[in-house]
Amino acid sequence: MFDFKDKVVIVTGGTRGIGYETVLSFCRSQANVILFGSKSSSVNEACSKLKTCGYEVLGYYPNLLDYEEVKKTIDDIYSKYGHIDVLINNAGVSDSKKIEDTSSEDFAKVVDINLKAIFNVIKSVIPYMKEKNFGVILNTSSMVSIYGQASGVSYPASKFGVNGLTKSLALEFAPYNIRVNAVAPGIIKTDMLSNVSDEVLKPLIKSIPLGRIGLPSDIANAFLFLASDMASYITGVILSVDGAAKN
Ligand code: NAD
Repeated sequence: MFDFKDKVVIVTGGTRGIGYETVLSFCRSQANVILFGSKSSSVNEACSKLKTCGYEVLGYYPNLLDYEEVKKTIDDIYSKYGHIDVLINNAGVSDSKKIEDTSSEDFAKVVDINLKAIFNVIKSVIPYMKEKNFGVILNTSSMVSIYGQASGVSYPASKFGVNGLTKSLALEFAPYNIRVNAVAPGIIKTDMLSNVSDEVLKPLIKSIPLGRIGLPSDIANAFLFLASDMASYITGVILSVDGAAKN
């Protein structure tokens, strides 16, 4: 349905869950996809899996918290392809500890990967997008960035930050034809839910008005749409993809 032929698409946290499904969806839409992961083994595993599906995907594992390392990786991708069209910032960690149980180091860790990493990748990519007067940047937020989260402080704080960064950069880069949006997933069936007990999860799923848990493909489809020319007049938006869940 979507055609990304000749487009270069980077997906962070592309080795599993929403990120992997997003990589697969863009491959099916003929993009040149580059995935980032946190370590060589998971990156190699994901790339091999994609190869068995017939897709050649380049993988990197820069430390997303190290701006110089990220910049070197982005420079390398640009020198290979000569353009970077779409960046999907998907890597993230969750946390549901109450503030009394959260150390300031715990807080910083979650904010670093969910927010500072996005800053580092965008800062590295933006000069190349500006040069071409074209680009799409998609960030991964969460429904907790809209409603908050009763237990947990660092995760919602980081995702509210993602929304602020998205809306501000959309304004800053609109004159360069670079669109910046975010997708705010609801409850999606991935490894991120593995530490949530069935006891907690079941009633949550039951309360979702659309009557089912979200799938990684629900989020990948939103990324495809927002990255496509069909969304060429959409920027600065936080798109909820949550079956109308309210937490
Ligand atoms: P997941 O745990 O399966 O995937 C997370 C990805 O982030 C993995 O590929 C992991 O390698 C990567 N990552 C984590 N820490 C990293 C680090 N330090 N450096 C580099 N990469 C790192 O979970 P998911 O559900 O696929 O999550 C993807 C995104 O969706 C996250 O940003 C998450 O906050 C968001 N999200 C998920 C849900 C959900 O219910 N699953 C809901 C709302 C938002």
